[in-house]
Amino acid sequence: MNAERGKVVDQAQATKKSYRRIATEEAFAIPEQMDAMRGVVAKATEYDPDLFLWNRTLGGGTLYERLLDLESERLRIMDQDGVAMHLLSLTSTGVQMLDADKGTALATLANDRLAEVIRRHPDRFAGMATVAPQDPARAVKEVDRAINRLKLNGVIINSHTNGEYLSERNYWPILEAVAALKVPLYIHPRAPMPAMAAPYRTNHLEHAIWGYQAETGLHGLQLITSGVFDHIPDLKIVLGHMGEAIPYWLYRIDDRFRRSIPRGDRPALKQRPSDYFKQNFMITTSGMNWHPVLQFCMSVLSADNIMWAIDYPYQDSPEAVEFMNTAPISDEDKEKLFHRNAERVFGIKA
Ligand code: MN
Repeated sequence: MNAERGKVVDQAQATKKSYRRIATEEAFAIPEQMDAMRGVVAKATEYDPDLFLWNRTLGGGTLYERLLDLESERLRIMDQDGVAMHLLSLTSTGVQMLDADKGTALATLANDRLAEVIRRHPDRFAGMATVAPQDPARAVKEVDRAINRLKLNGVIINSHTNGEYLSERNYWPILEAVAALKVPLYIHPRAPMPAMAAPYRTNHLEHAIWGYQAETGLHGLQLITSGVFDHIPDLKIVLGHMGEAIPYWLYRIDDRFRRSIPRGDRPALKQRPSDYFKQNFMITTSGMNWHPVLQFCMSVLSADNIMWAIDYPYQDSPEAVEFMNTAPISDEDKEKLFHRNAERVFGIKA
């Protein structure tokens, strides 16, 4: 009897240690996206940092195959690493480098495919909808369809669209639609827009070494300083890579924001920039498997605002699992980062 009871306790402890791991920034592609991007690459006349990478991906190989695979090798790797679920999103640059008509049609197709695979594996996959911000009105309709009809869990946009950020007023209807449906908007990196990329090209820093974070962090900060959160207080933004460096800079942003004299084209904000970051943003650990920066973010933000991510297939899955398994944080916080926050924010069944 006592031995039996002991066994039950051991099992309970073992189960507690085998966390439900929901990875929140996991990329996939569909063949039609690959074909469309082949067309864009073929037409390019000048160096474009995003197309440089697309060209390499489209050449074939492991990355290409892993992006297109959803139900074979991906599930095997998830099983091996003890990953319960991938929150999927169409890989960057999504449909944002296509013209508005093509982009809108491809977003619809990609969201349909995503919903199908989630229907087949509701315990293994959740997903964020792709939209074409090139046409804000149709993007709003697709947000509505993807969330209400397809039951997807959020929306993803890969930073700038044709050199513009979502802080520009013409994109606010998309942000309003997302907030009204109470789902988050993940702003995923892409390379800096061409006008910004030039100085990054020396020593090839325009991609993940520095360019992505500079581009996407600026996008996040422009959302804050545009005043959009005073107009849409329920808007929830997710940033990867431990917040694209914004957490590290919050003190100085607040300090200089308070003291600097704006040129006149910056709206007054009701709160400090850091207040919006703490209230309206979530961050994920994608591609940032480093305990010191996790501990820093835990101390600046709340454990309720950080979610675990791998960034498969761009980053190594076992390394990301090991990083969070061994994180020097409480077991309760680990449960939050591994799955509870994602369940709450993305409406994933607990
Ligand atoms: Mn990613």
